[in-house]
Amino acid sequence: MKELIIATKNQGKLREIKDLLKDFDVNITSLAEYPDVPEIIEDGDSFAANALIKANIVGKFTGKLVIGEDSGLEVDYLDGAPGIYSARFSGADATDEKNNQKLIQELSGVPYEKRTARYQCCTAIVDGTQEITVVSGSCEGMITEDPRGKNGFGYDPYFLIAEYQQTFGELDPSIKAKISHRAKALMQVKDVLSQILA
Ligand code: IMP
Repeated sequence: MKELIIATKNQGKLREIKDLLKDFDVNITSLAEYPDVPEIIEDGDSFAANALIKANIVGKFTGKLVIGEDSGLEVDYLDGAPGIYSARFSGADATDEKNNQKLIQELSGVPYEKRTARYQCCTAIVDGTQEITVVSGSCEGMITEDPRGKNGFGYDPYFLIAEYQQTFGELDPSIKAKISHRAKALMQVKDVLSQILA
């Protein structure tokens, strides 16, 4: 069975990607299986650039089929922040909790209608040293004042989907798996993988 490495250490992301690709006949691994991969410095100026940086480093090191994924939250009132800095919004020792605290502080007093936001996801596929493609997906939402629900990860307890009036923290993961930024990008990844694996 062909191996597909997901170039991430983020367990929430990995869980979702594995679930989205569960119908594929591939052996999905991650950076946990490759502790000697050189340090990945995400210094690109876009989600796409960072997705390619991750995929290329791991592809070059292993010679294998790799997915690099870079994603984040863009809040309109904050001019698109935290954006590509979503994972480290609160600083070098960032955690999901600290990032969420900072987000909520910065939106303190901002009325509901101005709390619009979106998740973005870019996914790069490389095979060894060959760049195959980069695809993307996005998902619109609103930032709540208080956390709601325990599902998902990262900013999910504060990310409300207007159509459901529930956050990704509250919604069943099977719904996030249909409408999320990652789901939309991974739908395109599936098309590419089908061709590669055919
Ligand atoms: P990356 O690992 O550098 O791509 O950082 C992604 C960061 O964006 C995560 O650490 C989260 O803070 C945020 N993020 C991306 N996708 C999601 C999601 O689906 N739910 C919640 N937070 C997300």
